[in-house]
Amino acid sequence: MPSLADFDLPALQAHLAQRRHNPVHAKRLLRAFYDGCGEVDIDSLSVGGALREHVRSELLAPRSTVAAIRRAGDGTTKLLVSLDDHSAVESVLMPGFRPDRAAACVSSQVGCAMGCDFCASTRGGLERNLDAGEIVEQFLHLKRAARKLGRRITSLVFMGMGEPMHNLDQVIPTVRRIADAPTGALGWRQVTVSTVGVVPGIDRLTAEDLNVNLAVSLHAPDDATRSRIVPSNRRYPVADVMAATRRFAAATGRVPTIEYCMLAGVNDSDGHAGLLAGLVAGDRFHVNLIPYNSVGAGVSGTAYERPSNERVVRFLELLRGRGVVAHVRATRGDDVGAACGQLRETAWPLSLPATAMIGSGAGGQGRDE
Ligand code: SAH
Repeated sequence: MPSLADFDLPALQAHLAQRRHNPVHAKRLLRAFYDGCGEVDIDSLSVGGALREHVRSELLAPRSTVAAIRRAGDGTTKLLVSLDDHSAVESVLMPGFRPDRAAACVSSQVGCAMGCDFCASTRGGLERNLDAGEIVEQFLHLKRAARKLGRRITSLVFMGMGEPMHNLDQVIPTVRRIADAPTGALGWRQVTVSTVGVVPGIDRLTAEDLNVNLAVSLHAPDDATRSRIVPSNRRYPVADVMAATRRFAAATGRVPTIEYCMLAGVNDSDGHAGLLAGLVAGDRFHVNLIPYNSVGAGVSGTAYERPSNERVVRFLELLRGRGVVAHVRATRGDDVGAACGQLRETAWPLSLPATAMIGSGAGGQGRDE
């Protein structure tokens, strides 16, 4: 059965018309649905009884539920979202530095096919693509979690499980629904799509002209290093990924982010910093250094380690010394496995309560386990 998350405005208008209801109510319904974080007090809406009954019986049941919640010491909240085929994905809420704001991170696939050796999301391979309604529902679950914490979501990143560029047919309608009114109304510039560097996907996103941000998970400036840790580099090597990123920047005027997961002894040398600086120095790119979060040995058997703070700072300074705009991403939520690269459904202990804390109104800060 569909939920309201499955409809954009024209689709809901068509659906209502087909069921002989007045399509003029579609806008109000969707606005109430998104304002209510996926819940609608249908009795409070001034719509006719027949439409009310139709919405209540056929459109209000969510297709996914929050099966468990973990909150890290820093307030980062990870949701295990269970889907109607009994698979599950993870979604993360990251409190902003401003007390009233938060960022949302959603998954685009169940599992991931990309095989990056340092990332847990890919360990079980790809199960399936999510559809737009399922991704929208993750956003709504996170919006509800944020509201319980007195925060509102001001940005959305596709940096959960999966490779968004391999599911663009669903990711693009998701972005439209979340960014645009009368649905999510988050705004286009508040959305970032992250990719391992699937060149045709970057080009398609460029052509769609959505005014969203692009993040590219580069992780190494040279093909030899990158192919070791990011298997898709053999298909889309560094030069091709960078060229597609430049095409995106030129067409959209937006500043792409280059993500660089720092792995001790693998991609964190002064030489790598020099090559990376050479790669991006002429571009208006923003380099985001992500110190590796521990996820155990990779498929290759390699046990990666996070570089020392001194190494990270030195790498950062080498980039900045060459005029590169670069930052180190603060690690969030790693004590509950909610940090970059740690998302995978199987990491949840079975004993976790299935009662959604969110629904029960417990929204306090601090650890809940
Ligand atoms: N497939 C997309 C979306 C996932 S984003 C992509 O690759 O961009 C997840 C981000 O976290 C990526 O930049 C990824 O490379 C990074 N990451 C993965 N594993 C990590 C780990 N163990 N520690 C730190 N960052 C990691």
